[in-house]
Amino acid sequence: TKETLAVIKEREQKVDAFLSVDEKGALEQAAEIDKTGIDADNVLSGIPLGIKDNIVTKGLTTTAASKILENFEPIYDATVIEKLKAAKAITIGKTNMDEFAMGGSTENSAFKLTKNAWDQTKVPGGSSGGSAAAVAAGEVVASLGSDTGGSIRQPASFNGIVGVKPTYGRVSRYGLIAFASSLDQIGPFTRTVKDNALLLSAISGADTRDFTSSKHEVPDFTKGIDGGVKGMHIAVPKEYLGEGVADDIKKAVKNAISVFEKLGAIVDEVSLPHSKYGVPVYYIIASSEASSNLQRFDGIRYGHRAQAVKNLEDVYVKSRSEGFGDEVKRRIMLGTFSLSAGTYDAFFKKAAQVRTLICQDFARVFAKYDLILGPTTPTTAFGIGEDIKDPVTMYMNDILTIPVNLAGLPGMSLPAGYSKGLPVGLQLIANQFDETTMYRAGYAFE
Ligand code: GLN
Repeated sequence: TKETLAVIKEREQKVDAFLSVDEKGALEQAAEIDKTGIDADNVLSGIPLGIKDNIVTKGLTTTAASKILENFEPIYDATVIEKLKAAKAITIGKTNMDEFAMGGSTENSAFKLTKNAWDQTKVPGGSSGGSAAAVAAGEVVASLGSDTGGSIRQPASFNGIVGVKPTYGRVSRYGLIAFASSLDQIGPFTRTVKDNALLLSAISGADTRDFTSSKHEVPDFTKGIDGGVKGMHIAVPKEYLGEGVADDIKKAVKNAISVFEKLGAIVDEVSLPHSKYGVPVYYIIASSEASSNLQRFDGIRYGHRAQAVKNLEDVYVKSRSEGFGDEVKRRIMLGTFSLSAGTYDAFFKKAAQVRTLICQDFARVFAKYDLILGPTTPTTAFGIGEDIKDPVTMYMNDILTIPVNLAGLPGMSLPAGYSKGLPVGLQLIANQFDETTMYRAGYAFE
C-alpha cells in the first residue's frame, strides 16, 4: 500500500486519474491486514484498488464528478465495496469520470482533466477514464468502473488494458449512483484477462438490495480459463467492420481473427441488422432513465444547496442550475422530452421497441455461435478538446459498445495491438451469463 501510494504520487503528475486518494484509510486497512496476515487463498487480500467515484464508499467523499455532490460523504458502502472489504482488498482512492457517467472522454468531469496513459494529449476515454488511466499508468493493478453504454470497454480500449462489462444483473448496483438503471453495470479494469476474471468473481452475486440482481450461480471465472478456443464458433458482425470504422482498427481486428483461426476457432461473418439504431435508441432510453434518476438531486437531500433563494422552487431550480454541468442538463432535457405525454409514443416507446429488435438480433446469433468478436471503438483515443465541442460526434464513439448494454450481454475489451503508438481494443461479446466463454477466449488471445 505504501509503494502504491508513492507510485500514485509520482504518476498523477502525468495522468491525473484520481479525484481523491485515501492515504490514511488505506494505510489503516493495510495495518489491519498486517495484524491478521495475508490470506493465502485469497489473492485480493492486501491489494490496493481504484474505485470509480460513482460507487459509494462509507466515509469517503463520493462525487460522481459533479459539483452537486462535491462534499457528499456516504453513510454506507456499495455492495461491491462490502464484498471487496470482505476479501480484504484496499480502497486506495476514487477515480475521475464524466459527471454522472455521462460522456466518453472524462472531459465532463466538474473537477479535473484526466489524460491517456499512453499520450497525454489524448483523452483516456470515458466515462470511467480515471479507473482506466490509473491501471494503464501502473498506479494500481486493478480498479472498478461502470458501463452504461461502453464506459468500461471504451476507456479500456483507449488505454490498452482489459475491461469487462458483466451481464446485466451479474453485479449488484446497490450503491452505484444511478445513471440509467436498465443499462448500468459495475465491472473490473485490469492489465490481464485472468486478473479480471478474479476480480469479477469477487464482486458478482445476488443481492436483495438490488431487485434487478440475478440469482444466477456465480462460477469461479478463472476455472477452465486456459481451455483454449479450439472448435469455438465465433461470429463477426459485418456492421462492426463497416463504414465509420477506421482502417487501422479494421486491420487490427482482422489480425485478431486470424489469430483465433490459428488457435482452432471457426470464424464466420454474421449480421446484426438493427445495431445501426443503437445510438439513437440508447440516447433516448438512457436520457429518459437519467431524467428520472436525477430528480433526487434537489438541493435538499444531497450535496449542493443554492444560497440566497426566495422560496422552495427557487432552491430546486438554483441548486440544480448551479450543481449540474451542461451535458447532464442536456440529457435531463432530452429525457424529460422523450417521456412527455405528447412525445412518449414517438420517442420512448419507439426506442423500447427497437431495443427488443436489437436483443433479438443477438439472440439469433447466439443460437448458433459461442462468441461475437469486433472492435471496441471506431477509432483509437482522440485528442483532448477534439470531440467535446459536438455532442453527436461524441455520441457516435459508442456505436460498437451500446448494443451490448441494450441487450444486457457481457462484453470485454482487450488489447489487440497499436496504431501510431496508441492501443487498439478488441471487443468480445458473449451470451447472457456466459462470461466464462468470454474469459476463455480472451485468455487464449492475450
Ligand atoms: N459514452 C456513453 C454516454 O455518454 C456511455 C457512458 C457510460 O457507459 N456510462 O452515455
